[in-house]
Amino acid sequence: MPELRKNIITREWVVIATERSKRPDDFSVKKEIIKTKEEQNLEKSKCPFCPGNEHMTPPEILAYKSKNNFKGWQIRVIPNKFPALSPAGELSHNSVGIYDILNGIGVHEVIIETPEHYNDIISLSNSQMEELVSAYFERYNQLKNKFNLEHIIIFRNHGDRAGTSLLHPHSQLIATPVMPKEFWYEVEGASIYYEYEERCPYCHLLEFEDQDGERKIAENDSFIAIAFFASRYPFETWILPRIHNASFSQISMKEGNDLALILQDVLKRFYNCLGDPSYNLTLHSLLKPEKQAEAYHWHFKIIPRLTTPAGFELGTGMFINVSAPEEAAKFLRESKTEVVLT
Ligand SMILES: [Zn+2]
Ligand SMILES: [Zn+2]
Repeated sequence: MPELRKNIITREWVVIATERSKRPDDFSVKKEIIKTKEEQNLEKSKCPFCPGNEHMTPPEILAYKSKNNFKGWQIRVIPNKFPALSPAGELSHNSVGIYDILNGIGVHEVIIETPEHYNDIISLSNSQMEELVSAYFERYNQLKNKFNLEHIIIFRNHGDRAGTSLLHPHSQLIATPVMPKEFWYEVEGASIYYEYEERCPYCHLLEFEDQDGERKIAENDSFIAIAFFASRYPFETWILPRIHNASFSQISMKEGNDLALILQDVLKRFYNCLGDPSYNLTLHSLLKPEKQAEAYHWHFKIIPRLTTPAGFELGTGMFINVSAPEEAAKFLRESKTEVVLT
């Protein structure tokens, strides 16, 4: 019998279609065909994110120097050459008849995670992962008081099905002058929950999942990774900080280092269990936490792109998930965390 589950934050209903359920290992995707050395070199020569091709991108905003190579960089942050939103000019309102328009003010940056074209995030060292989180943190904090920004998202698209256009490992940051709908639902929902329950819904569910354990995937001193009870997607994973904080901008150094560890831990489990699936990693954080500081709780979500939302989802905004979160969690929890790259 399928089950309708309610998201306690957004109050949306999700169908967990257990009768259509696949076994967790049925989701495993085929790995890409290995390219020859010549094909790899050709790809690297055309890649704007590879060392030596820095002239193909706008000048860098931030670079962490390589410890091994004095001249080289380890992480490089650049403006997106084809930005979705542009930092030039002032924000202004306009209208066309009944419609509102804002000019496209904002920020769109690319965080190049490694100089190695084929070195994915799962094979970075601990210190490289810590530097990546540090770059996320630095850019988030440098931008939070600039312009008329309402929201900043940091995200990572991995694989064809996740919408990535360049293979070279990178994340992106987009700052918008308006509050995006999905995020607004979360903040509003958390505020309503807080009004009635007098506590943050994320702290509440974190406490429950920590004790219950059935949907737990991984944990460390500062974070817990869970398969969310009312997941929209198979293997949807939430990474929640144990310490309540509305904004990623306020994390401690210890939390940053623990975040680096758990992000990579979960992604290694995905790789081992699901065969390098496409996924989207997204930061959910309140840019201006003054108002909803008690109600909202920053976190990361990872959505593997194993199924495609279709007519029902697009027509209703209601999702059918063909994998029980409990089974997904068990499968990932029992996975090896050492990765042998093929
Ligand atoms: Zn490259
Ligand atoms: Zn909380």
